[in-house]
Amino acid sequence: KVKNSGRNSFLVFDEKMRAETTLQMSLEHNLRTAVHEQLMEVYYQPIVDAMGLVLGFEALLRWHDSVHGQVSPAQFIPIAERNGLIVPLGNWVLAQACAQAAEWRRQGNKLSKMSVNVSSAQLSHDKFVGVVLATLKETGLPPELLDLELTEGVMIENHGQTQQTLELLRKFGVRLSIDDFGTGYSSLSYLRELPVHTLKIDRAFVTDIEHSIEARTLVEGMIDMARSLNLRIVAEGVENRQQMDILIAAGCDQIQGFHISKAVPAEAAGRLMAVKEPTPERQSLAVWNIA
Ligand code: C2E
Ligand code: MG
Ligand code: MG
Ligand code: MG
Repeated sequence: KVKNSGRNSFLVFDEKMRAETTLQMSLEHNLRTAVHEQLMEVYYQPIVDAMGLVLGFEALLRWHDSVHGQVSPAQFIPIAERNGLIVPLGNWVLAQACAQAAEWRRQGNKLSKMSVNVSSAQLSHDKFVGVVLATLKETGLPPELLDLELTEGVMIENHGQTQQTLELLRKFGVRLSIDDFGTGYSSLSYLRELPVHTLKIDRAFVTDIEHSIEARTLVEGMIDMARSLNLRIVAEGVENRQQMDILIAAGCDQIQGFHISKAVPAEAAGRLMAVKEPTPERQSLAVWNIA
């Protein structure tokens, strides 16, 4: 073998790629089993209003694999999107979340929304609207309580078809949110055209607002724009009291983030909802920080 550093770095690179490929294949294999045997769990992260009252939850998938341990959705969702597993998996999350929300309401809890993430492959699947309506019917959840979260990219992909699907869902009363707002590459003009109800400001725009005047000005501008378009606004990734106060003062309607709680199993989420009265000081939110 010829020894030179160039070739050695190729070998190292090759080893890394091999390891990465092996990991991906193993994850994909285990993911298939996990989906088919329903080994995943849906966790719920509370979304609160300006008073700190729980309005609803975002359903977030959690997967504990026997070999790989806890695997982040950021890692397995892209795999599921590539191999088509996202469709059965997404339908399963939707069914779990709707059934849970309906159950909480039957128990007498005030709950005004259950947010569920939807991938591009799900939305473009021709049975998607049918699946959503069937799920609502089976679980008895009123359509106005279901909030489907889509990213900017998904919203504007194959525009005509997507827009029709979204309009149909909206006509049936389902709510639509733009997730991770501000991180896409799209122009803002689509905001006028799409039948969306809520805008979720990505946590990248929340980070540092308590320290940086520029960061704060930017997020305030986003909130003003959304308000003038008559959209509800959720701030994601709110991690402390100062951030929450700035966002509420700027006119943000709803808050989601570790300052309130991480995503927790259904049982713990139910307990968060049981806190019915807002205490005079939002400071008391600290006691909700059970995670
Ligand atoms: P997302 O929809 O934007 O969800 C919010 C993510 O931010 C969640 O990560 C949540 O745990 C995290 N987060 C919430 N508050 C804070 C905070 O204060 N600080 C920080 N640092 N992070 C916070 P998670 O659960 O790891 O999910 C990552 C992404 O995976 C989600 O981003 C979503 O795009 C996707 N995902 C999760 N569950 C599903 C699902 O059921 N279906 C689909 N299609 N995608 C899902
Ligand atoms: Mg989301
Ligand atoms: Mg998001
Ligand atoms: Mg995100």
